[in-house]
Amino acid sequence: MSASFRAVDPRTGEEVDPVFVCATPEEVGAAGERAWRAFGRFGSLPGGERAMLLDAMARELEEVERELVTRASLETGLAVERLEREFARTVFTLRMYAEIVREGSWVRAAIDRPARGAAPGTIPGHDVRRMLAPLGPVAVFGASNFPLAYGVAGGDTASALAAGCPVIVKGHPSHPGTGAIAAGALARAVETRGLDDGVFSYLPSGGAGEMEVGALLVGHPLVRAVGFTGSFRGGMALDEAARRRSVPIPVFAEMGSTNPVCVLPEAARERGAEIEQLLAGSILDSSGQQCTCPGIVFVLDDAPGRKIASGLGARLEAARENVMLSRRVRDGYWKRAQECAGVAGVSCTPSLEAFARAQPAASGPVVAPAGLLETTAAGFGAAPTLREEVFGPAALVVWCADVDEMLAALGGVVGSLTGTVIASAQENGAAGRVLSSLSARAGRVVFNGVPTGVRVAAGMVHGGPYPATNRPESTAVGAFALERWARPVCFQNVPQGMLPAGLREGAGEKG
Ligand code: NAP
Repeated sequence: MSASFRAVDPRTGEEVDPVFVCATPEEVGAAGERAWRAFGRFGSLPGGERAMLLDAMARELEEVERELVTRASLETGLAVERLEREFARTVFTLRMYAEIVREGSWVRAAIDRPARGAAPGTIPGHDVRRMLAPLGPVAVFGASNFPLAYGVAGGDTASALAAGCPVIVKGHPSHPGTGAIAAGALARAVETRGLDDGVFSYLPSGGAGEMEVGALLVGHPLVRAVGFTGSFRGGMALDEAARRRSVPIPVFAEMGSTNPVCVLPEAARERGAEIEQLLAGSILDSSGQQCTCPGIVFVLDDAPGRKIASGLGARLEAARENVMLSRRVRDGYWKRAQECAGVAGVSCTPSLEAFARAQPAASGPVVAPAGLLETTAAGFGAAPTLREEVFGPAALVVWCADVDEMLAALGGVVGSLTGTVIASAQENGAAGRVLSSLSARAGRVVFNGVPTGVRVAAGMVHGGPYPATNRPESTAVGAFALERWARPVCFQNVPQGMLPAGLREGAGEKG
């Protein structure tokens, strides 16, 4: 299956050098074995030493920032300024996890010393102490739309290493050069810290063999967990493959999201122009290729609501040449936009014919027009396809007769990363009801803002109910993302000298 491949510059549609070679099955096998060997020592290193590795990784990435950002822009078509912000977030995340493991309380140690006076035959009074311990080698699959923050050195890699798990990254075929530069930086940090090279491995993938690398990695008997960011189809395929193993392993899949936004009537009346501008900016940011992009806008079918929708439609119609990440993403966007526009009662700006005419040929720049779809609350309730993500610069407006109909229509929204309410100061009652409905179906609820722009902090939840993720109890961003890669272990009546450092008397509760 070994195959050579090149990246494509989406701005021109041309292939760019150099040639990359897809990892072979033997290389996948060897990476798993190296990671397992490295786990023996790495998994029990003091938190402070893992913190030094993460800090060294941030420093090594800073050494290649310009090269990394330039190459990422070439391979994804994303603007340099946007990638500079993403780079800052990536190194910030590495340093945040370094701080967390240095401090140590993330292991959530609990110490119950022997119970005094427990009568024989009643509840045993054993000395029991528990803490979180790393799972073992983690396979990481990044997405095409965040080549840095969800890429080789992204949040999954950083949090898994922080937890004490060696990481094997499957390179994304859309940005192989970016992946290779980041992987080089991380490998140098591992070497500088004098750690086993199996702590971090990178497997380029693309060309004929790309799917096989992923499948072999998830099936590798020494891989203990998977972190995935990408499409629903990809995430669920890996989840199923992990469950079919003779020893199933957890997959934490962050997938697509529709990110509903509810605009309440007074807010629409008071500041319709501002809302329209805010929504258009968020929908068109990065050509709509963000997992938190607003996908469904619920608005009342009255004059202020109509004004917002027509303004939004005009702004999207004007955005005709949005550079897309890859042909695969562009074609997927087009297919989904057509599916939705083809639903009875759905109207489309620009018209479907104009939309079709705007489609470029199979060669040339990888661009696509933005578009606004519109339907009624009843139409939305009747068409399941309208409730799935359209990944690209499109949004669906759902017309509602009143707030009660908006609340009823929200019942049709499937699990999402975010849910937003835009309300005026006089609408607290209605806003509270909408927020409560949104919080039942989203990982993060946003008040008077837009969902794009994810803060990396302990208070963040980047996750949500199925199908936004397959693990609604977890977050992929923030301090708590670490816990995905660990499991609780209890030590019963174990002598002091044999306990992990974090559970010994007088040692504090540091990991
Ligand atoms: P993608 O096509 O699913 O690719 C993601 C990774 O998964 C790639 O490395 C891909 O490798 C691999 N993959 C996909 N299907 C696979 C399969 N059946 N078996 C093995 N590996 C497989 O997604 P993308 O186009 O990069 O990203 C866009 C999607 O990601 C959007 O839906 C977006 O909403 C979502 N996203 C979600 C979040 C979040 O946090 N929830 C963040 C960013 C993006 P191959 O190409 O080699 O198969």
